[in-house]
Amino acid sequence: MLDVCLLGTGGMMPLPRRRLTSLLTRYNGSSLLIDCGEGTQVAVKERGWTFKPIDTICFTHYHADHISGLPGLLLTMGNADRREPLTMIGPKGLERVVNALRVICPELPFPIRFLEITEPEMKVELNGYQITAFRVQHNVICYGYTIEIPRKGKFDVERAKAQQIPVRYWNPLQKGETVETPDGILTPDMVLGPDRKGIKVTYCTDTRPVERIAEHAADSDLFICEGMYGEPEKADKAKEYRHMTFMEAAQLGKKAQPKAMWLTHFSPSLVHPEQYLADAQKIFPKIEAGKDGKTVELKFEEQEGENNE
Ligand SMILES: [Zn+2]
Ligand SMILES: [Zn+2]
Repeated sequence: MLDVCLLGTGGMMPLPRRRLTSLLTRYNGSSLLIDCGEGTQVAVKERGWTFKPIDTICFTHYHADHISGLPGLLLTMGNADRREPLTMIGPKGLERVVNALRVICPELPFPIRFLEITEPEMKVELNGYQITAFRVQHNVICYGYTIEIPRKGKFDVERAKAQQIPVRYWNPLQKGETVETPDGILTPDMVLGPDRKGIKVTYCTDTRPVERIAEHAADSDLFICEGMYGEPEKADKAKEYRHMTFMEAAQLGKKAQPKAMWLTHFSPSLVHPEQYLADAQKIFPKIEAGKDGKTVELKFEEQEGENNE
């Protein structure tokens, strides 16, 4: 199960009832944060989640509304006596930008590992998450992220029998362990069926609606996408500042066909995003306006409908 919380939905500056856009996910005891604007800590507190398990922080780009909350967050994680390394992922300049911010939180009890993205696309596996960063089109270098939780196939009894694998080895193989036997080495792929559908979330903000976004967001369980402007007359402004409108986001949704889609990164001038949804929903009916603290528990397919997981 993957818990996903859209911590805030604001672009440019936080407002009294709208925090800056960022995303926090939890899976198997390891949390992942994408973007960390001013006030992100308050948003996490409001949700009731904790800082210490954040093992990974991804940055879309280095505009202040996406990173200025970092020094305070690091300080809090240090005060919670975190010792385990923290991994940061972000566009070119990551270490330079983070170290500049760290002038005001120099002593931390945990090491930071930097993974700087230098290619149009980068894949990383960390703590059970498969992370794909993909270049988007903003007025500075900016990346979108797809977070996937892969799922192995089911144990295939017939395959195990066909290969005459003794029953005593079935259990460890099923758990993904490799077993050494007097007759040779047995590996889990020998007894597992084809990989099953995992969980996929795509997050992208601060970009024009480029084709690549729809490709990466294809078939996501949840696609979180910027919708800076709802008003049709702001279409030129969206182009000029390298953002997008609800209608442009809806076109991406139509191509990608995610199971759910939330808009975020609303302009401070956009007071009631819901007001502009109807036209976008004509293009892609599943599109919704994100809300601060909006949370979903995404389950693996066979888990759906179960309450005890
Ligand atoms: Zn922004
Ligand atoms: Zn920006």
